[in-house]
Amino acid sequence: MAAQASIAVGSQVWVEDPDEAWIDGEVLKVNGDTITVKCSNEKTVTAKASHVHAKDPEESPCGVDDMTKLAYLHEPGVLQNLKSRYDMNEIYTYTGSILIAVNPFRRLPHLYDIQMMEQYKGADFGELSPHPFAVADVAYRLMLNEGISQSILVSGESGAGKTESTKMIMRYLAYMGGKAATEGRTVEKQVLQSNPVLEAFGNAKTVRNNNSSRFGKFVEIQFDQKGRISGAAVRTYLLERSRVCQISESERNYHCFYMICAGSPEEREKYKLGDPSTFHYLNQSNCYKIDGLDESKEYLETRKAMDIIGISSEEQEAIFRIVAAILHLGNVEFAEGDDVDSSKPKNEKSMFHLRTAAELFMCDEKALEDSLCKRIIVTRDENIVKTLDAEAAKGSRDALAKTVYSRLFDWLVTKINNSIGQDPTSKCLIGVLDIYGFESFKTNSFEQFCINLTNEKLQQHFNQHVFKMEQEEYTKEEIDWSYIEFVDNQDILDLIDKKPGGIIALLDEACMLPRSTHETFAQKLYQTFKNHKRFVKPKLSRSDFTICHYAGDVTYQTELFLDKNKDYVIAEHQALLGASGCSFVSGLFPLLSDDSSKSSKFSSIGSRFKQQLQSLLETLSSTEPHYIRCVKPNSLLKPAIFENQNVLQQLRCGGVMEAIRISCAGYPTRRTFLEFIDRFGILAPDVLTGSSDEITAVRRLLEKVDLQGYQVGKTKVFLRSGQMAELDARRNEVL
Ligand code: ADP
Ligand code: MG
Repeated sequence: MAAQASIAVGSQVWVEDPDEAWIDGEVLKVNGDTITVKCSNEKTVTAKASHVHAKDPEESPCGVDDMTKLAYLHEPGVLQNLKSRYDMNEIYTYTGSILIAVNPFRRLPHLYDIQMMEQYKGADFGELSPHPFAVADVAYRLMLNEGISQSILVSGESGAGKTESTKMIMRYLAYMGGKAATEGRTVEKQVLQSNPVLEAFGNAKTVRNNNSSRFGKFVEIQFDQKGRISGAAVRTYLLERSRVCQISESERNYHCFYMICAGSPEEREKYKLGDPSTFHYLNQSNCYKIDGLDESKEYLETRKAMDIIGISSEEQEAIFRIVAAILHLGNVEFAEGDDVDSSKPKNEKSMFHLRTAAELFMCDEKALEDSLCKRIIVTRDENIVKTLDAEAAKGSRDALAKTVYSRLFDWLVTKINNSIGQDPTSKCLIGVLDIYGFESFKTNSFEQFCINLTNEKLQQHFNQHVFKMEQEEYTKEEIDWSYIEFVDNQDILDLIDKKPGGIIALLDEACMLPRSTHETFAQKLYQTFKNHKRFVKPKLSRSDFTICHYAGDVTYQTELFLDKNKDYVIAEHQALLGASGCSFVSGLFPLLSDDSSKSSKFSSIGSRFKQQLQSLLETLSSTEPHYIRCVKPNSLLKPAIFENQNVLQQLRCGGVMEAIRISCAGYPTRRTFLEFIDRFGILAPDVLTGSSDEITAVRRLLEKVDLQGYQVGKTKVFLRSGQMAELDARRNEVL
């Protein structure tokens, strides 16, 4: 990386800049270790030589489509390359086999149409412009030809374009693996239509993205031997439940709530719905509309997608009836009741919404009221009724809304999986992962903790793939190779999820002990990890903790950790809806055979999520991974704005910088001796005659073709990037 030798007075360089991250300029003076530069913004700065990088004098204004082709490989070069391509609407760039996608925030015509898919079909990787179709095509062909399962991992921060990229990949795979021109409900159509359904119930407008997925998703597409889609399975992770009852300024609740308010007049009448602004669960924020989105159209499309998936019209009716019931439930307010510490619906209006919610849930109105305002305490001798005060009743109401909504979401996922069906005979699959990127906000709670754990795990997987695999291969082949340092994050993973003793285990412990609070939990963490180098107790804080993640430090507020980790359904809510006259509703609350439902046994969201992650990683490990790193060029969600600092931070978090270094420093192309001779023997047929062994033949062959910088290992030839293409070109001349 050190380009210092080439830095002299008059040469073009990059220097650090507080606003632009890097700025170009001309060297005015070199004084030992300090260099003075006249920048292109007219400022003159003096910097340490190690912070100045040479600028490629022959840098193309159009950039290069693969970063590993950059003549001068360093941070400013990479950034400049992405930026100049972005300015020309070239939003995709490779880094070796990793695809970097910069969100254009505008529709680019023809970039994703069928003609485009046709072009990428079977094309050699790297032959055409970088594109998600190219990644999908490589995965598809590897699966088909080599019989190895594949996975495509899409990552990036919220609004970076993960979900859009995922959908393009699914469309491409459906196109390749579909039965052309078949009418009706085919598996591939169902797979594609699962997207709008899950988005209606799991996506919402946030300040970071107008269509933000509030859950993680892994779609496993199964193929038969002929490469046709024969089944699929969707796994989802951690739906954000709190949004159902609580939304921040400028954000919205889940799309489905606004859709049902824009239903047909008959439906609105039937569900007693009015404008979204009349519902507490929607009017906590002043935002109801999304630019360019027609709610009633979206609603019809969601219903159509549900048809294709095979959700019956009775089921659809029940689903939207429940969505409406939740809205009415949210409008039930409570006032102090007749006894001390008791509560009752506040007024006529609240009674109306209570009645309507009960009608729509098809349960008894009085029973609904009781389940919100009272608790039954089971003792050995008798059941004691305890009344709840107005505040507690409100909490009970919100808990009910969240429980019903998350059960509904889970039902949809199960239904999608059952309808599409699994192919038990399928040996090959392509998995597509669309999961939240690393998060660090002003306040970070349990959700960020789980999300960042996910990213630590995926980062390790990425590390293992890109770094360890390369290094292990080189070591195994005993070739000369200067090791590139990378930070392994196993120590962070141990800190979080080691059993026993990790943060999640301590949190579960705290949740089970009757008298613990978030403060005692925090104290326990401080004690246990006093000397852990990835754990910091912030000064002046009594309950926050900081984890030094691979992508940066994040300070978590523990206030809601215990509550959010507890996963249980209030027994009264279970009993109420389990007895609903609507079989769909009661089906969401099946009776558990043992009586564990009554004892509200503790089950931990953190531990369950950890297990889900474990199983995801096991699946991924049995596949060959492909990576797409999505980048959000600005926080305004606007086209044509490229914020250097912002992008750089994302490239670092995604491991892109390290991956670039490794693919260039190493030997990206490798072939066994036999493969190499088979392919290139034609370039020097004379070296193959005689009785020499393979390795000698290969060495002679390589000398003959006069290549520099390659390595010969124990069983394979290792070529520098670009050398394979060079040899192929010569071979084509001979052929
Ligand atoms: P994420 O899933 O990473 O949070 P999304 O995939 O939902 O982000 O993208 C956010 C928004 O950015 C989309 O709603 C869309 O408006 C825009 N967008 C993303 N990728 C593209 C693309 N390739 N072309 C056009 N617009 C895009
Ligand atoms: Mg998304």
